[in-house]
Amino acid sequence: NIEIEGHNAVQLATMEPRRTYKPLSTAKNWYEYFKDLNGIDSIESVNPDFTPRGSERGNIAVCSMLKLASDSVSSVLTALAALELTIPDLSQRERLTIHMLGGTARELMVLRLNEEFLHLLPKLQLVTVGYIGPDIPSASGKSPLLPSECCQYCTAAGRKRHIFLRRSLYHECDEASLFPEFPPDLIMACNSGHADEETESWRPTLERILERNIPALFTTFNEAEAVDEQSVLRRMGARFIQDCGKNRWHGLVPKIENFGARYEVFYNNYFTYIVKGKK
Ligand SMILES: [Zn+2]
Repeated sequence: NIEIEGHNAVQLATMEPRRTYKPLSTAKNWYEYFKDLNGIDSIESVNPDFTPRGSERGNIAVCSMLKLASDSVSSVLTALAALELTIPDLSQRERLTIHMLGGTARELMVLRLNEEFLHLLPKLQLVTVGYIGPDIPSASGKSPLLPSECCQYCTAAGRKRHIFLRRSLYHECDEASLFPEFPPDLIMACNSGHADEETESWRPTLERILERNIPALFTTFNEAEAVDEQSVLRRMGARFIQDCGKNRWHGLVPKIENFGARYEVFYNNYFTYIVKGKK
């Protein structure tokens, strides 16, 4: 079973699929997402600024739980926000395919949350997410489509989510099958650090992404990384359809990086930008 339940990851998808489409962009922050879209009852224990309402111990615990939940579902909502921006008729779409590059334990631990695409997009029948990267666990290098178990409501409605895994650099993937079989609506790389680490192998991948002329969403742990990555891509002639900026859907759990004496706080998917083809 590929669906690893993380010991410390709180995973709270919207409980039931929505019947009417309410764009994610109508929620201005995590509080409004949990209250107006996700519909979780315990949001009543939290203030709009995500501090606990009152000093009850229980409310403090709910606050921590929802912050952990935001960290888990951050990549899905970040992708959804990019899809809303790049696909004008998103609410009418019955199929969506996303290529997730790099693919780390973080993304693979929260596969179950791909269900959120089905729950927030009422017309969507099938969502396919491909995880592609050199560290993806896959014995053969090419693995078939793996259906995942949906919730009772989606299952009864015949709605499906699939994943596939490719242990390969994106530009070395078997294009003969990957693109014709699973043409992506969005390419996404979470916290890739492509301007900082493995820059040699990222370069041809970035070239390939720009050649494909498909919206590509990148996230970073901090602003400096996003700025560096933006200059790399600008030098390559990339067309930015969203400049780098703080992501409304970054995880709410602060993480600390220790550079000797200097401590820096960063977040999951803290900054984002979107490119599509070349100018
Ligand atoms: Zn469902």
